[in-house]
Amino acid sequence: MRLQLLSVLVSTAFATMAAQAAGVTDAMIRNDAQTTGDVLSWGIGTQGQRYSPLKQLNTSTVSKLTPVWAFSFGGEKQRGQESQPLIHNGKMFVTGSYSRIYALDATTGKKLWKYEHRLPEGIMPCCDVINRGAALYDNLVIFGTLDAQLVALDQNTGDVVWKEKVDDYAAGYSMSAAPLIVDGLLLTGVSGGEFGVLGRVEARNAKTGALVWSRPTVEGHMGYTYDADGNKKEAGISGTTNKTWPGDLWKTGGSATWLGGTYDPKTGLAYFGTGNPAPWNSHLRKGDNLYSSSTVALDVKTGQIKWHYQNTPNDGWDYDGVNEFVTFDMNGRRVGAKADRNGFFYVNDAKTGELLNAFPFVKKITWASGVDLKTGRPNFVPENRPGDPTAGADGKKGSSVFAAPGFLGGKNQQPMAYSPDTGLFYVPANEWGMEIWNEPVTYKKGAAYLGAGFTIKALNEDYIGSLRAIDPKTGKIAWEIKNNAPLWGGVLTTAGNLVFWGTPEGYLKAADAKTGKVVWQFQTGSGVVAPPVTWEQGGEQYVSVVSGWGGAVPLWGGDVASRVNYLEQGGMVWVFKLPKAGSTTTATVKPAKTAAAQPAVKVAAN
Ligand code: CA
Ligand code: CA
Repeated sequence: MRLQLLSVLVSTAFATMAAQAAGVTDAMIRNDAQTTGDVLSWGIGTQGQRYSPLKQLNTSTVSKLTPVWAFSFGGEKQRGQESQPLIHNGKMFVTGSYSRIYALDATTGKKLWKYEHRLPEGIMPCCDVINRGAALYDNLVIFGTLDAQLVALDQNTGDVVWKEKVDDYAAGYSMSAAPLIVDGLLLTGVSGGEFGVLGRVEARNAKTGALVWSRPTVEGHMGYTYDADGNKKEAGISGTTNKTWPGDLWKTGGSATWLGGTYDPKTGLAYFGTGNPAPWNSHLRKGDNLYSSSTVALDVKTGQIKWHYQNTPNDGWDYDGVNEFVTFDMNGRRVGAKADRNGFFYVNDAKTGELLNAFPFVKKITWASGVDLKTGRPNFVPENRPGDPTAGADGKKGSSVFAAPGFLGGKNQQPMAYSPDTGLFYVPANEWGMEIWNEPVTYKKGAAYLGAGFTIKALNEDYIGSLRAIDPKTGKIAWEIKNNAPLWGGVLTTAGNLVFWGTPEGYLKAADAKTGKVVWQFQTGSGVVAPPVTWEQGGEQYVSVVSGWGGAVPLWGGDVASRVNYLEQGGMVWVFKLPKAGSTTTATVKPAKTAAAQPAVKVAAN
């Protein structure tokens, strides 16, 4: 008896030590895509492929996929839920709308703790009060808030370990992306391109929050490095002042890095997409307006821009090029792919940025007739650029054009997935356009800085969204699954030949990755606008997705917003798995009559 007690004490002590020692390391983050017992980064691996080697769930077994638990974010406030859950040490860390974060037992859904960030009056998120997820490092879970702060909490207790203000929310800054962690550095962007903020990427010491470097993504601004005492040192201007921007416009040039970044250990580079140059009225800022609507590749140690590729020079349509740059191997080369808001799918060399391929992934593109693979530049259709207000009779409104895609994009924030098994990208695309015109505008701190008016319009009666399986080598669409509402969640693909994605109509679905045949679906009770994840625990494969309709579409969607205004808000995280093989899980059903005469009926869960 005494011996038993002792061994329990000893094993408890060991378990406690193991729990304390099991902090998230750089090596664990580096290997995240291969390790199936955890999900440590946005993208299921910093490369962003959203591919899992797990195959317990496959085209034969997935029909039995069943909910295990669901958890409500609660509160009176719901709105859009775009968060990707993280899994570590049997715990799930998931963010909710209004800068909330929850730690849950990953197998039972039991709440371990919650942190609700105290938001001031007057925050200015452009596109709903969403958050896309957290980052894990050591014993910390770290996320960005709508008032442009970073908060690091103890994974076990939810206590705040450090908190840093990134910038002034009253000037339009906010944070909604999941931070990226590389070699102990926390890499973050900023949101606020509609308010003329200064887009940039910053690196901090993930354990302390102290700034290490800052690199502006608007040409003309100075970058800085910071020593251990916080002293800042000039680290060179991004590009050359006034080379691609006229006058003073670069000072409030936008180019917000609002979707965060990806990182490839094979190149040592972090890739951040950049948003629109500010304001939207492109006639005010003649030139390419670097580094807006681009992919920028940064040296993680120094913050220097190693290469950039601009998808939309002199963007006049709000084609934020923030979309994730997903690295993979193609024809023996390390490359990266991006399905840009502007409707083109790009493949660039991941080391040099050289453009290798570019093709449309949506059916209607009006602003360019194609991309010249020699020069890397789009072939603009000049008459399809919204007109210059100063050219008109009253100088108040420029000529209106119908543009496709609309500014909500051929693809927006919803991340795509890549399967090395099929060689296909699974792209949550949308077909829509917009009426757009320019207006005069001047910068005013904290006010919308657009200089444009617009209405989003659907192109087809029967669908807007379309999940497309795309071959990055040929540009061919292997299959597609149309969806009535615009797709706004992300995609997950697995070695089980499956593709998972959610719809605003509330379904989490699975399809055969090779054929596009839908093999499973589940109604979550509200729209899904978040990317699913999968992991294994105790020999079982789990799938999770957050449900809760919202995001930019209901706020900015014009005619499309009214088309989908029947969709209900929510705020739940759902978890699924297969019932255990030979499961003895039973429910006892009492017969209504003659209870004494009949034995209880055992109903097997599977
Ligand atoms: Ca992992
Ligand atoms: Ca924008």
